[in-house]
Amino acid sequence: MHNLHEIPVSSLSGVGKVKAQAYANAGVYSLYDLLYYFPRAYEDRTNIKLLRDTSPECKSALLLTVATEPRVHNIKRGMSLLKFRAFDDEDTCEITYFNQSYLKEKFPIGSVFRFYGRVERQKNKYLLNSPAAEPWVETIQPPPFFSVYKLTEGLSQKQISQNVEAALVLAKESLPDPLPEEIREKYNLCTIYYALKEIHFPTSYASLATAKRRLVFDEFFFFATALSSSGAKTIKHTAPPCTDSDISALLKLLPYKLTGAQERTISDIAADMAKREPMSRIVIGDVGCGKTVCALAAMYIAVKNGYQAALMAPTEILATQHYHDLSPIFEKLGISCALLTSSVSAANKRKIREAMTSEEKSRRLDVVIGTQALLSDGVEFAAPGLVITDEQHRFGVNQRALLSERNKHTHVLVMSATPIPRSLALVMYGDLAMSKIDEMPPGRQRVDTYLVDESYRERLDGFIKKQVDGGGQVYIVCPAVEESELDEGEVDMSEIALYGESLVKKEKPKLKAAVKYAEELAVRLDGYSVAFVHGKMKAADKDATMRDFSMGKIQILVSTTVIEVGVNVPTACLMIVENAERFGLSSLHQLRGRVGRGSRKSFCVLVNGSEGRLGDNAKQRLTTMCNCYNGFEIAEEDLKIRGPGDFLALSGNSSIRQSGSLDFNLASTCEDTEIMSSAFTASREYLKIDPTMKNHPPMKQAAERIFKMSGDIIN
Ligand code: ADP
Ligand code: MG
Repeated sequence: MHNLHEIPVSSLSGVGKVKAQAYANAGVYSLYDLLYYFPRAYEDRTNIKLLRDTSPECKSALLLTVATEPRVHNIKRGMSLLKFRAFDDEDTCEITYFNQSYLKEKFPIGSVFRFYGRVERQKNKYLLNSPAAEPWVETIQPPPFFSVYKLTEGLSQKQISQNVEAALVLAKESLPDPLPEEIREKYNLCTIYYALKEIHFPTSYASLATAKRRLVFDEFFFFATALSSSGAKTIKHTAPPCTDSDISALLKLLPYKLTGAQERTISDIAADMAKREPMSRIVIGDVGCGKTVCALAAMYIAVKNGYQAALMAPTEILATQHYHDLSPIFEKLGISCALLTSSVSAANKRKIREAMTSEEKSRRLDVVIGTQALLSDGVEFAAPGLVITDEQHRFGVNQRALLSERNKHTHVLVMSATPIPRSLALVMYGDLAMSKIDEMPPGRQRVDTYLVDESYRERLDGFIKKQVDGGGQVYIVCPAVEESELDEGEVDMSEIALYGESLVKKEKPKLKAAVKYAEELAVRLDGYSVAFVHGKMKAADKDATMRDFSMGKIQILVSTTVIEVGVNVPTACLMIVENAERFGLSSLHQLRGRVGRGSRKSFCVLVNGSEGRLGDNAKQRLTTMCNCYNGFEIAEEDLKIRGPGDFLALSGNSSIRQSGSLDFNLASTCEDTEIMSSAFTASREYLKIDPTMKNHPPMKQAAERIFKMSGDIIN
């Protein structure tokens, strides 16, 4: 038995140092990697054309008979051409191969080949350069599909095919199936060997579909498996019990009464924190439902019981806003609190870190608020009690492992504003206790949503003025300045790139470049204060602008999606989304949630910038936004429109994809929600019986491979 993980590609004949490096550049090191280096497309060579019906733009399949004996012409030192002619029913064509004189014997006069290549025309001649060629015998016809691999420099299609073929020979004997037979049988799946063979060398459309189904199933199955096994470990640790959960002093300081849902959530949290076992809870609730106050209560409880708390936000803006909102309340409660972001000076950072670790209680900092980036590396606590992660749309297996590893002895609370479909919630948060805030604070109104196009521009300007004249504030969101240079902190930009890509090809919309747009708007709306924030601004400038906006000094804020997450400005009453067709449903929903946070009647206007060429999916998204106001319903719709692979790769788990730890290789092209559900169920059922996968080691190995995680995280 060989272990294909341990056999380097360089062990294959024809793969030397240079080729091995080329493979490494494509992320392929072992034979196992090679087998999972799936084709990016397939050529269908069954559509055979006559020479005269071909077009030089695309490759065609041709059935040609060799007419002349191949001749080798030596043109320069070390350079040769092999030439011969071949014909179909109507025309003749000249075929040339470069530096492949050894092919001379392959093409005897009168033999028939299926050629595949680009036919060029020169005057009245047809030319075919270095086409693929397969002998054509009526009885044994060559396979219909040919794999097309993504190439890196130094690799050819042919090379990869040959190497994969060789690897498959070994795999036949030594590749254990990561799914046990009972699962394969129950879910009607082929073996892994068959799947890999057919994905690389399909013998028919049906067999290719069978193979793909199996491999997609695996991706979902191991995604679910790795997620559940990475969470399982936290339970063994202990955390400080916080038994004093009287928050009445805090409640007195709030200008409002808690909603029923908030009360329930806070009492869930208090009950968890009173235990010696670490809390591991997620609070899910639509934007604006009031999650922050639940976090506040949790931090208060931790500090009240003598421990420290940290609140991590995904962006500087959000961390700063939390600090500004919460620190006055903390102050009244006699709780010390600091803000830790990249704009804090090094000296102050050091001071904060010292205060966090101070053994002396009077000098010790109780609460620190900051960005995830800063808090997740290098902050030590003298008396760790609670870690809260806010706006966790980007919750992946790695973050999860990090959290539980680093904060072995703290309670952990995660807050998510991304309503996710039930089927996914079960997998992603199945092992976390969940509190759902399904009730909005009183007095909230529906944010009426309209879809308009360029012809409404003038009326839209008028509407902006009307809102501002009435004391309201306006957000205008444009797609990123330059898509290719997205900022990390910007949530869901990957999603925009996705739709963007498909739209650029199909619809080529004019993009509102945010900078230019802000300038033009300032001219059109002379006398109003317009400001601009984008992802590439310095954090300090961005924060200053955001603060001015939230204090009402700025009336109209043009931005890229940096405002998407969490920002709270109660007087904002109009959200305009330019090129709305480029945003995904969950982004649009998040953006709409920025307005309607106060008592003012609020609106969301989606501007379709595609000039009438709206794709079906985009149309469906925008209509959904106008008709649907419930985040969970929108999430279900999003899953339906995008399909599970895309949905997972780009919304709930963008971090997984970004960190490269999970590539939904084939699943990202899967539109079938059924198969995802089956795979999730299968994983759950299996782990119930064998949680550590000890009965089937290949399964454990596959789960680890998908997440490229070390064995000590999954155990
Ligand atoms: P999110 O869940 O999106 O984080 P926030 O916690 O930022 O929402 O709350 C949104 C707004 O609602 C804030 O201005 C907050 O003060 C307000 N709010 C929260 N809870 C209540 C409540 N029970 N009654 C009235 N307003 C509330
Ligand atoms: Mg929030």
